[in-house]
Amino acid sequence: MDASRGSQDDLTDPPIIHLIRQAVQGKTKADRQRASRFIAETLATHDRVKAVREKVVTALLQEIREMPISKHVSHCGKSFQVSPFEYYATCPKCQEHIKVRGISGHPDIEDVFDAVFAWLHKPGASAIVERRRQQLNDDL
Ligand SMILES: [Zn+2]
Repeated sequence: MDASRGSQDDLTDPPIIHLIRQAVQGKTKADRQRASRFIAETLATHDRVKAVREKVVTALLQEIREMPISKHVSHCGKSFQVSPFEYYATCPKCQEHIKVRGISGHPDIEDVFDAVFAWLHKPGASAIVERRRQQLNDDL
């Protein structure tokens, strides 16, 4: 499809402007229909992406709210608690150094916290955080 090309100002206008122009002023009815269909498909995709994003963010917020202070680890029949942010722990029974985080190889909720912890080290962040914590306390 060539609906996004053909105008003199290709380099300055966003592609959607060209598509709209093509949908309205396309040389043939087929050109106009193709551009209109592409616009409709793009908007539908945008709506689906937006809906998925909202679901992901909602689920992420729920996970953060429910994040425990410690997590349960089992090794050689013994169970113990560790910080959810520790990558390794020592088994109290066999003293083995065991990996307790990052086992899946995929980003996890703990990685979200780490990103926030890293953000907290930005210059000026502590004043913003303190103000926001106060606002959250006031809302309770
Ligand atoms: Zn053990």
